[in-house]
Amino acid sequence: MARTLLITTLAASAVVLSACQTVDTTKPGVVGVDRDQRMMVSSEEVNAGSAKAYAQMMAEAQKKGVLDKDAAMVKRVQDITRRLIPHTTTFREDAAKWPWEVHVISIDEVNAWCMPQGKMAMYTGLVQKLNATDDEIAAVMGHEIAHALREHSREQISRQMGMQLGIGLVGALFGVGELGQGIAGQVANVTLNLPKSREAETEADRIGVELAARAGFDPRAAVTLWEKMGKVAGGSQPPKWLSTHPPHGDRISDLRAYSERVMPLYSAAKGGAAAGK
Ligand SMILES: [Zn+2]
Repeated sequence: MARTLLITTLAASAVVLSACQTVDTTKPGVVGVDRDQRMMVSSEEVNAGSAKAYAQMMAEAQKKGVLDKDAAMVKRVQDITRRLIPHTTTFREDAAKWPWEVHVISIDEVNAWCMPQGKMAMYTGLVQKLNATDDEIAAVMGHEIAHALREHSREQISRQMGMQLGIGLVGALFGVGELGQGIAGQVANVTLNLPKSREAETEADRIGVELAARAGFDPRAAVTLWEKMGKVAGGSQPPKWLSTHPPHGDRISDLRAYSERVMPLYSAAKGGAAAGK
């Protein structure tokens, strides 16, 4: 009996492990992000989960009366995001066809996020408490968009599946119908609650400054953004953003170096804009 169970488990493990694939989600860009990523769940599943979770969360925000309340801020955040999105194709062409969406949530919390396939939220607390400039908002959104381009949520969920293989198997064996809901919950969890890895953070920082520069936003604003974030962190209510985007010692110097590297892109974008006027 025990032997049969063991064999069944091994066979099932083999199925799961064979589903593991190594991918590189993005092209390197000028900043040169290039790292193989191990995935145990498909983009399709994660994206479906993201769409479901996002729709639920926005419906909830609507019900609570905190969705897109500040018309001026909504326009500002949407305009900035709209300028960034076309440049995502530098890193992956399919992003042009993503169902991009951004909403502003009236919560007095320093936070912003982007779920898989460009489902974004900016909290009013981030803009107000940091007194963020347009360039700094672009730095936040560029960083968040970069997480989505690199499919960091899918990678994080894959890592969790790897650690909880037994639990994953039970789920797969007993309720395929539950999987959609399960993935939606996991996407929301990794987006809102779990800290990202240091390597994911560095990648998002580097791709983020390139997106900002290409869209004509000063990439050096990523540095002032983090300096402001650091000041607020010393206060009574530390930024929620820092719990999911853990700061590390050499982040500022890395951002300085990479924002300098993309300055020619920024100058070209500004020059192009000036010539167009
Ligand atoms: Zn991050």
